Amino acid sequence: MDILGLLAKAFSKPKSTKACDRCGLHSAEDEDDCPHCKDISSEFELNVFKEKIELEKQAGGKLGQLFFMVALMIGVLLLLSILEN
Ligand SMILES: [Zn+2]
Repeated sequence: MDILGLLAKAFSKPKSTKACDRCGLHSAEDEDDCPHCKDISSEFELNVFKEKIELEKQAGGKLGQLFFMVALMIGVLLLLSILEN
């Protein structure tokens, strides 16, 4: 096994990425076709795909919000329990 080669790979700079013109997702700069949407041939499919990405983004944001709210609630509960003592 080429350990030096593996180490060099691990410490080398991460590949630069570019945003895809079609779907907006990022892929490696040296990639000719976007790995995310190269299989999509029709405009309709592409729109469905983009909508899915958008929905996933929103869901992620909501999940973050929920997490923040739960953390806030726990903080308030902790504060209340401290004040009561
Ligand atoms: Zn793409």
